[in-house]
Amino acid sequence: MSILLEQFSSLCAIAPTSKAIKTLQPLCNRSGITLFVPDDLENFTPNTVTYKGKLSQHLEEIWSQYQGIIFVFATGAVVRLIAPLLQDKKSDPAVIVMDEAGENIVSLCGGHQGGGETLSRCLAQELGGKAIITGASASLNLPGIDVIGKPFGWRKGKGNWTAVSRAIAHQKPVAVIQEVGSTLWQNHLPENHCFQFETRETEAQVIITDRAVEINPQLSQVLWHPRVLWVGIGCERGTPQNVIQEALETTFKEFGLSESAIAGLATIDIKADELGLVELATEQNYPLKTYTPEELNLVRVPNPSSVVAQEVGTASVAEAAALKVAQASELVVNKQIFKSDQGAVTIAVARSRNEYIGKSGQLYLIGTGPGDINQITPAARAAITEADVILGYGLYLDLIHSLQRPGQIIERYAITEEKKRAERAISLANWGLNVAMVSSGDAGIYGMAGLVFEELTTENWDGKTPAVEVFPGITAMQAAAAKIGAPLMHDFCAISLSDLLTPWNVIKKRLMAAAEGDFITSLYNPRSRSRTEHIKIAQQIFSKHRPPDTPVALVRSVSREDEQITLTTLQEMLDHPIDMLTVVIIGNSSTRQHHHWMITPRGYLGFQP
Ligand code: SAH
Repeated sequence: MSILLEQFSSLCAIAPTSKAIKTLQPLCNRSGITLFVPDDLENFTPNTVTYKGKLSQHLEEIWSQYQGIIFVFATGAVVRLIAPLLQDKKSDPAVIVMDEAGENIVSLCGGHQGGGETLSRCLAQELGGKAIITGASASLNLPGIDVIGKPFGWRKGKGNWTAVSRAIAHQKPVAVIQEVGSTLWQNHLPENHCFQFETRETEAQVIITDRAVEINPQLSQVLWHPRVLWVGIGCERGTPQNVIQEALETTFKEFGLSESAIAGLATIDIKADELGLVELATEQNYPLKTYTPEELNLVRVPNPSSVVAQEVGTASVAEAAALKVAQASELVVNKQIFKSDQGAVTIAVARSRNEYIGKSGQLYLIGTGPGDINQITPAARAAITEADVILGYGLYLDLIHSLQRPGQIIERYAITEEKKRAERAISLANWGLNVAMVSSGDAGIYGMAGLVFEELTTENWDGKTPAVEVFPGITAMQAAAAKIGAPLMHDFCAISLSDLLTPWNVIKKRLMAAAEGDFITSLYNPRSRSRTEHIKIAQQIFSKHRPPDTPVALVRSVSREDEQITLTTLQEMLDHPIDMLTVVIIGNSSTRQHHHWMITPRGYLGFQP
């Protein structure tokens, strides 16, 4: 699935000229964006949808059907077109305006809640243009206060959002009172942010809670509700939805809890088809988790009942199910019993440590190329910009700093922590976040992709959840080859000399086969401080099968600041420095050096073995 559609279930673009269509069509095709064009351009444009007559009329028809609309028009024209249609930033689509060449991509409306800012940043990465964002929080390098909880599935509560946004824009102190939910969003705020985590003595406040807090009209307050409350429910057969709902509402009111903080419902398996319960779950979009009596019986509850135990085989339904699904040891609300003419309901509430996000996460395995940011594919750039979390080795994260957007969670790891990194990425994606795992070069060539897949398979991954997408990158061998000409023009292979994960006798066997087979050979991990002999043995093996003047390239830190390129020969290669940042390319028997270029003939001018 396209990165853009991770954020937006429906997008359309409107292109009035053939140049605009040319710019947008490839992107629209691969991302499933509907591309509208005026009917007089019909003949030139496959895979587009035409509209007849006035654009204003067409726009009126499609306005509420799309989450985001991309216009290729003058900004002024778009402002006039959309003015009569704008209603409310909660329901209006995000509006993006861009020029015909895709150089400037303006987030015009719906920047925060509509996701317009993220959309324009992702489009800019895909089209190679610049996102134009004028929102105050973006210029402070902060996520909008009305979107901070979005990645975690938090629900927005009451409050004066405009006043709090204004306080942030003016860099006034804003207290953050966070009682529940993930604090990951706090870890990567810019240095001069205005949030105060220790005090409540401020006029502007962000309260992150599962309580039903009354807004103080004297202050500028907003409420976010992480979905941490699981409602355990037991009921008599046939109890209608409204009775269950009323019981739930009464409980939440009495205990001062916010229904916006509800993660979902839990009950016993025989109630999986209980109509009132199913209707309530469907209507409110709550997950309904069910457990067997045996599972529930193992949960220690404050109010077990022998009557219930006799009836259904467990001493508790509501309390046990709430505790079980929330993985909690104590309840927020003990069993409440409601009886009416139409049925009877029991309700208990437990709080989970991690909020329920309510969507499945994505795992992007991204190759960021050898070093220079220009050598990352546009698709990989868009994925990095879209992700909720970016994980990687610190040095690589620095290289892609300019692709990050405000509000992303960035986790830096040491180079040795590969397993920890993979496990973390998987657990965040399983939780529901979109996670970009970055590797240098290509993620699937001695990179993190393989490890992540291996870890997933040990966890009985079904191949679909979390969804995984691999974004190819330019591997060190290709970048090095490009610097020195065309050394890989014939059959080639790559061999890593690191025996940390591969036995040395296997590596040696492959070296011998490659040498004998006359493959052009790229050696990765050629030498470390402690492992100095392998490169010497490799040189000896190749010397048995190739002439001493066979060209060899030693390319160090390719496309990084300290890049160093040495063209030498098989005989002399060991006289030059070779380290862990070097890739070694050994030519085949027909590879030639011409001035400072290394060329392997393909055979067009005659095959020369
Ligand atoms: N996934 C990476 C390879 C990681 S293994 C890729 O596809 O490029 C690490 C080895 O790759 C290093 O020991 C070195 O041999 C090579 N390497 C990685 N980046 C390099 C660079 N910029 N210049 C030269 N060699 C590099």
